[in-house]
Amino acid sequence: MFHRKRYITLFKGELFMAAEPTGIPVLILKEGTQRTAGRDALRANILAVRAISESLRTTYGPKGMDKMLVDSLGDITITNDGATILDKMDVQHPAAKMMVQIAKGQDEEVGDGTKTAVILAGELLKNAEELLAKDIHPTVIISGYKKAMEEAVSFIDFISRQIDINDKEVLKKIAKTSLYSKAVGNARERLAEIAVEAVTKVAEKRGDKWYVDLDAIQIIKKHGGSILDTSLIEGIVLDKEVVHPGMPKRVENAKIALLDAPLEIEKPEIDAEIRISDPSQMRLFLQQEEKILQEMVEKIAATGANVVICQKGIDDVAQHFLAKKGILAVRRVKKSDMEKLERATGGRIVSNIDDLQPSDLGEAKLVEERKIGEDKMVFVEGAKNLKSVTILIRGGLERLVDEAERAIRDALSAVADAVRYAKIVPGGGAVEVEVAKHLREYAARVGGKEQLAIEAFAKALEALPMTLAENAGLDSIEIIMKLRSAHAQPNGISIGINVFDGGIADMYALGVIEPAAIKQNAIKAATEAATLILRIDDMIVASKLEKGEEKGKETKKPGEEEEKEKED
Ligand code: ADP
Ligand code: MG
Repeated sequence: MFHRKRYITLFKGELFMAAEPTGIPVLILKEGTQRTAGRDALRANILAVRAISESLRTTYGPKGMDKMLVDSLGDITITNDGATILDKMDVQHPAAKMMVQIAKGQDEEVGDGTKTAVILAGELLKNAEELLAKDIHPTVIISGYKKAMEEAVSFIDFISRQIDINDKEVLKKIAKTSLYSKAVGNARERLAEIAVEAVTKVAEKRGDKWYVDLDAIQIIKKHGGSILDTSLIEGIVLDKEVVHPGMPKRVENAKIALLDAPLEIEKPEIDAEIRISDPSQMRLFLQQEEKILQEMVEKIAATGANVVICQKGIDDVAQHFLAKKGILAVRRVKKSDMEKLERATGGRIVSNIDDLQPSDLGEAKLVEERKIGEDKMVFVEGAKNLKSVTILIRGGLERLVDEAERAIRDALSAVADAVRYAKIVPGGGAVEVEVAKHLREYAARVGGKEQLAIEAFAKALEALPMTLAENAGLDSIEIIMKLRSAHAQPNGISIGINVFDGGIADMYALGVIEPAAIKQNAIKAATEAATLILRIDDMIVASKLEKGEEKGKETKKPGEEEEKEKED
């Protein structure tokens, strides 16, 4: 049975074996391996990528729709965020998976413009298909696309505007443009302000360059209240309460001990037994424990600390002694928060209380417990080193709070990119149309078959404004024609789509602006993905290991150890 089946499979799959003249098949690949080659492989991959990019199209731009994603456990996510949608879609096709990685890469590099990258990659491949049908070889398309990409990236640099990064109004417009596509409703203004404040607070100038470490911006979500209650705190917020009711709830000019050691009597690792024969011994034993804890607290107090923030536990007795000393203490704080505190307060995390020195203490103007919604949280404000802020996101629905977080993260990245590179371009499809126009002129200069590929690249770029128009319920052909003729004029560079009135307008005047880096990175990422896929002409997919399948049940032949029955 088994042999007959394999024999058939082998003859069906053309290159699974190389037949000798005698007709005896020679096994090359494992049975069950699927192989597609040449144009078929290319077509299958292009189809998969386009399917992904098509699925994102309707979510693109300020009038884009949201997606509801339900995972295998029934958890619901409602989002408009490209990277999140692709991540939750759990795609299977290897080429489609590459798109997910592109989106993630774009998300990590520049933080926004994920859908731009994915949609553009889909369009590049769609247009490549047409060229392939005209018998243009993939290598020609690839080199044409690469030239077009390089030209586009440097041209964007050329048409971008330099901004003054101290101009908060410009930064706010950038944040707002990024927030337009997210369902944050009337809180856009507020969130944009917060994003700008947060980024400018943590931005640092080294030499003549600006650095922004987005990790220094902590985001805490607390559902309850409304998104409008979202606030920025200059400092760090710990989602914990003060451990003991007898402790102060507010300490000014705080000297903070950051401990990585428990304020508890540690249980011995080995099983030890203490036999106590009379009550006085018991009392002595307990007194001894108390004494050890008291000594720990004495040591901490002796350094001058008035706040203790502990990554581990704090025993009831120790809490009592700390309270008596008027020390505010918080326990079981996350390691990441401890590290943030270390950076912000200028203190040092100490893992042995005996080592604690006054110089290890961090400083902050105020440590205070406040009630947010139903919960109490500890705020560390006015820290010695101010480069640390917290955004406290509020909102009625948990899903709204989650989406608000994604929206804020995008806005933060956009503002950070603007601060880092200080270059902006007009949004609303303006830059895409301008670059497409330039590429068409460039294509004519390059000539040959590559010219066609560069023109195809230009057409792919125009698909972005067309998608914006479609999603706004506009006639995309009409809009693109209007944009092209506007861009033919000398001052047409910044004309884009006003999705709210259906016309075209100057995007700088409308305040729809984006960091140049986002567009450049999206174009690079999309081109890389498209050319990578165009280069594949052979796809060999190993058969999946079936669950519970035991290895080595069949009589083994050399080279067939892990052979699996085909799934059908
Ligand atoms: P991405 O994941 O690529 O950032 P978005 O859904 O956030 O996708 O859409 C970004 C696009 O929306 C950009 O081309 C941007 O210029 C455009 N856009 C944002 N706000 C506006 C607006 N008010 N008017 C027109 N276009 C806008
Ligand atoms: Mg965006």
